[in-house]
Amino acid sequence: MRQRKSIVYIAGYGRSGSTLLERILNSHDQVFGTGELASLLSLLKDDLVYCSCGQPIQKCSIWRMIISVIKKKIDNKNNMSKIQFQIESIFFPLRFLFISRKLETYKNFIITLLKSIIKYSGNPDFIIDSSKTARNTIFRPFILNKVLDMDVKVIHLVRDGRGCMWSYLKGSNRKIEKGENAKIPFAALRAVLGWVLSNMGAHLYQLFYPNKYCRIRYEDLVDFPTREMKKIEEFLGIDFNKQIEILKRNCPIPLGHQIAGNRLRFQKLLIINNDLEWQQKLSIFHKLLFWFFAWPLAIFYGYKFKS
Ligand SMILES: [Zn+2]
Repeated sequence: MRQRKSIVYIAGYGRSGSTLLERILNSHDQVFGTGELASLLSLLKDDLVYCSCGQPIQKCSIWRMIISVIKKKIDNKNNMSKIQFQIESIFFPLRFLFISRKLETYKNFIITLLKSIIKYSGNPDFIIDSSKTARNTIFRPFILNKVLDMDVKVIHLVRDGRGCMWSYLKGSNRKIEKGENAKIPFAALRAVLGWVLSNMGAHLYQLFYPNKYCRIRYEDLVDFPTREMKKIEEFLGIDFNKQIEILKRNCPIPLGHQIAGNRLRFQKLLIINNDLEWQQKLSIFHKLLFWFFAWPLAIFYGYKFKS
């Protein structure tokens, strides 16, 4: 067993297949996938949030223990949620001088949270946090790397932004789950700007910690799972032969205990396949909007205008 634990941080934009990637990695004995861990405090305000095991998070065998520890630790979860936002979001550099004294409070919270996750999830070597690098979490991998005595290894998952946009146009995942009106105002524009920002956030981490960064394209993961899993295997230093076998044989990927993420996390018989619905359904206007704002990054990642 390793002495030093690692965080595997899935960075990039939402709707890029992070739930799928996390579920594949999570099926390894030494890995525990938490889902979008940055959302935990906001999820606690809501009674109807489900873990991927099918239980409400307050009743899940693992999360209820973790939640009871952190509830004792934090006096005011709204305040902690605010501190977390101030420290992890894009506004952090503007507020740095004013919030430096809150860093200690934040550090204590994160250390307690991670310790209890390790304790109640069976002492895994790798904890996955797929909070991505959107505007509210853009500095999260940096901060985790600073405050925790753990390696924070970033897997930057990139998906064609037109696919992400199509998924975003369908609405908010959390509201769809609750059966509420899920439409997002200015969804197409927000999706393309969010895609650019989130991916740039992951490159910022790459700039500072090139040895703790690995980039995977969603399309390659689903089309060439063995090759891409070997890449992740080398990056993390862990044997994924069993997972590669599951993918090769198209066997269902086991359920874990992920909180937040898309509805794939509940699907018992999840089998890997490339979701290309957007190619037929996304309008020309939206495709052009994407290229207008995102062409340098899209070309850099190898996406083609005509697909
Ligand atoms: Zn659970």
